[in-house]
Amino acid sequence: MSVRRTAAAVLAAATTLVTASAVWTAVAANGAEGPTTSSGPAGRARSTYASATPARPAAHPVPRSPAAAADDRPTRPQVRPLPPTAGGAGRTTPGRIAYLTFDDGPDPRWTPQVLGLLARYDAHATFFEIGTQAAAHPDLVRQVRAAGHRIGGHSWDHSDLTRLTPPQLADQLDRTAAALGEAPRCVRPPFGAVDRTVRTAVTSRGESVALWDVDTRDWTRPGAKAIAAEVISHTKPGSVILMHDGGGDRSQTVQALDQVLRRLSSKGYRFEPLPDC
Ligand SMILES: [Zn+2]
Repeated sequence: MSVRRTAAAVLAAATTLVTASAVWTAVAANGAEGPTTSSGPAGRARSTYASATPARPAAHPVPRSPAAAADDRPTRPQVRPLPPTAGGAGRTTPGRIAYLTFDDGPDPRWTPQVLGLLARYDAHATFFEIGTQAAAHPDLVRQVRAAGHRIGGHSWDHSDLTRLTPPQLADQLDRTAAALGEAPRCVRPPFGAVDRTVRTAVTSRGESVALWDVDTRDWTRPGAKAIAAEVISHTKPGSVILMHDGGGDRSQTVQALDQVLRRLSSKGYRFEPLPDC
């Protein structure tokens, strides 16, 4: 469900969500980071999906933390992703390049399937992994890296980084880096929630914040066709595409990925890891 709301309403709704679940949090994001958009999963209660962005709200799936329940839930408002800088000036590679990104893994069921499809199309991607997942599946972390993909951080436990104290924020970044085996070059904050404090904390470590511009909303499981259509119709050269290889049943994502790779490859696209990751 996508509801257009004012920023104030979004914050009010988010505040309600916070009381419903500790995981639901608000992002006072309508400032330095631009207009808010919405969503993502997390928390214990299914609630409304709020968006301040008319067109295509960003979404995000539920973290599959050990304590989290099994299926996807909408989340809370999030910062609208910045326009991608990848593929812009300085890239001289001819042809069309797009950047597939997968959040919330690694997952022993879905990540290998994603890797298999990427290999079939000679595509490379960026995986934004949750620390707890990486710690639980170090073999998958190695497998992703060995296949030539890049790995970015996605927090230790899918926390909203804008809600943390500086020491808690540093702890999230440190523990995630340890779980990944090396400090990531880029971080995708859960829910796309970024404020000045988070951005400074990330960049002061020499890492960059990586958002996206094509949101498949695959965590809502709208059907593989719908997921694929979203990507195929909105991808432009330099697009950063958000999908998920963890956080719930990703069978639709896997099916859609096959279609996306086939269609966009036939249109001349190549898929590379994010240059900053
Ligand atoms: Zn996520």
